[in-house]
Amino acid sequence: MVNPLDPYAASTGDPVTTVIWDESRRLNEVVVIDDDAPVRDTIVAMVKRLGHSTAGIDPAEDILTVVASINPAVIVLDLSLGRRDAVQVLKDLGNARYPGRILLASGRDAETLARVQAIGLRHGLQMLAPLNKPVTSRDIAASLRGAQLQASAERPVVLFDLSEALKKGWLEVWYQPKITLQSRTMGAAEALIRLRHPQMGIIPPASFIPSSTTDAYEAMTAFVIETVARDWAVLKSHGWRLTMSINASIKMIEKPSFVEMIRESWLRLPDRPRLIVEVTEDDLIVDMQTAEEMATQLQLYDIDISIDDFGSGYSSFASLRDLPFSELKLDKGFVLGCSTDPKLRAFVETTAALARQFNVRSVAEGIETAEDLSVVEAAGFDVGQGYYFARPKPIGEFLDMLGKLKERQHRKTAGAA
Ligand code: C2E
Ligand code: MG
Ligand code: MG
Repeated sequence: MVNPLDPYAASTGDPVTTVIWDESRRLNEVVVIDDDAPVRDTIVAMVKRLGHSTAGIDPAEDILTVVASINPAVIVLDLSLGRRDAVQVLKDLGNARYPGRILLASGRDAETLARVQAIGLRHGLQMLAPLNKPVTSRDIAASLRGAQLQASAERPVVLFDLSEALKKGWLEVWYQPKITLQSRTMGAAEALIRLRHPQMGIIPPASFIPSSTTDAYEAMTAFVIETVARDWAVLKSHGWRLTMSINASIKMIEKPSFVEMIRESWLRLPDRPRLIVEVTEDDLIVDMQTAEEMATQLQLYDIDISIDDFGSGYSSFASLRDLPFSELKLDKGFVLGCSTDPKLRAFVETTAALARQFNVRSVAEGIETAEDLSVVEAAGFDVGQGYYFARPKPIGEFLDMLGKLKERQHRKTAGAA
């Protein structure tokens, strides 16, 4: 809710500053805006050591113009900027629809940081959890992990045209198991989209998923729902009645066409289980009221909401309390390496406890090692997902994997008899 008494609240009358945020022309991944040059240089050096391309910006410059020319994925922003301040910058960035993430870093008290954070959110910006100065390399690493920023060498630079891919039949839906940890059984899977380019091979979604307000995004979602419904029926014919999760944005879910897609493909299936729609935490909290309405409406169609990438956004206890969701899915940035980093472990434990408080299922994604899995299990997570169990696979390979799993189970039962 926008507070009408807040002078910084987003006003619908604000003209939008038109800036083209061209992903393919990204010059640096992370920029650091700080008026204290030595501090700025230190943070830049830390980010560089983590393998990201980065640059410092002196706030005396025309920040919006410089940021627009660089198009960074993350902006590290100080609160006091000499003759400017973070609130003014956030308003400008919100007005220009800056699509990246913002990491506030300041020596100010936590309450001020949280207030400025909330202003950023109200202006439609993606805010990461703020950092207290002096920041350490570890803090920055954890934040950038939460932002799902990969080191520059791994970052895909090509943007593919989704409409063309759809027309040419290059899209596929792959599946990754979600494992019930207590019984170590597989009762669910997440559908993840892939583009199979005839020359370049398999392309991950980060390189082709467009803004969720576009027609191409809508067509992609329809394709995913249709494919998942078809594949679910195939899995069922092989004796697997799996709970399926799909990913979608709140902007997509709130369109009447979304329910139409569900009705046409999913609701036609006899004996179907509930469908789970994973919506990222960031996406949910930008407009809590819509999120709450949508979650309530979707329940009428036996569809549950999962809060995806939990921990990478900034939702408050109060906002979660009002949202009818059934699953809390901890972001992989907090799971990867939780067995060696006490801070990550604390986050894993707190999230499991929070899910218990809310009486919802807890899922940890990004489990890659037996050690991390032990921490996740000890924290009491219900479900685990990650390369340790299986990578996402095309439906054929996924079915083969299930076949082998069943065989192993049969052998085990026969051995025990
Ligand atoms: P997500 O929904 O959080 O999906 C989990 C991502 O983590 C997937 O990346 C998955 O391949 C990856 N992952 C799973 N286990 C591990 C692990 O152990 N270690 C590591 N490092 N990564 C792991 P993917 O498939 O590249 O998808 C990225 C994001 O793209 C998804 O994040 C989701 O937000 C979005 N996405 C994927 N498919 C769709 C779709 O059909 N529609 C929409 N709207 N978004 C999608
Ligand atoms: Mg997901
Ligand atoms: Mg996720």
